[in-house]
Amino acid sequence: MKVPIGHLIVCGTDTDVGKTIISAWLVQGLGAMYWKPVQSGLEAGGDRGRLSRLLDLPATRVLPEIYAFQQPVSPHWAAEQEQRCIDPDQLTLPKVKGPLIIETAGGLMVPLNRQWLQLDQLQRWNQPLILVARSGLGTINHTLLSIEALRKRNLNVLGVILNGTPHPDNPATIEEFTGVPVIAQLPILDELSREALARQWQLQELSLRFERLEDAWSESR
Ligand SMILES: [Mg+2]
Repeated sequence: MKVPIGHLIVCGTDTDVGKTIISAWLVQGLGAMYWKPVQSGLEAGGDRGRLSRLLDLPATRVLPEIYAFQQPVSPHWAAEQEQRCIDPDQLTLPKVKGPLIIETAGGLMVPLNRQWLQLDQLQRWNQPLILVARSGLGTINHTLLSIEALRKRNLNVLGVILNGTPHPDNPATIEEFTGVPVIAQLPILDELSREALARQWQLQELSLRFERLEDAWSESR
C-alpha cells in the first residue's frame, strides 16, 4: 500500500540558498501546509510572512513558529540575545492532515543551542528530506558534504533542488557522485509570483515527479 509522504523537510546546503522560495514552490505545487519551527530574523514577518504573502495563503495553511527571534543570526545566538534557549523537546512534529513542508533554519550544522545542531534535530525527526542548493560554482562541494552528513545520520534524502541559473554540468555531477536525484531546478524568475512558480512546476512536470518519488519512498519502507 502506498504510504503518502506526510512531513517533508526542506533543508539547505547553506544559509540563503533559497529554502523559502523552494518551500513556497512545494507548498503551492503539492497543496501542502507550511511550518518553520525556528525563525531568526523577523523583518517582513520572517519566512512565514514572506511565503504567506507570496502565495496568498490562508492562515489555516500556515503553522506558527515554535521559536521566533528578532535577530537574523544563527538560532542559538539569536536566542541567547533574548535570554532564551531552544529546547529540542519543544520541536515536536505537528499532526496535520495532508503534506506539511517544514523549512529548517540555515544549513545542516547550524547550532540550535550550544549542544544541539540542526542535524541532530533532523535525525530526531527522521522524516524524508529535500536538500536545496545553489545552482552555480561551489555547489558540488556543499551538496556532497551535506549529503554525506545526512547519510551518516541514516537520513533519507529524496532529492536535491537547485536554485538559480541552471548549470550545464552540476546536476549530473551531483547525481553521479551521490546517487541522489536532482529533482528540479528553479531558475531566476523575471517576476517572483505564484503564477511564475506554477508555470515552472508544470514545465518541469513536478506533480508526476513527486508522485514517483512518493512511490519509491513508499516501497523503500
Ligand atoms: Mg528561509
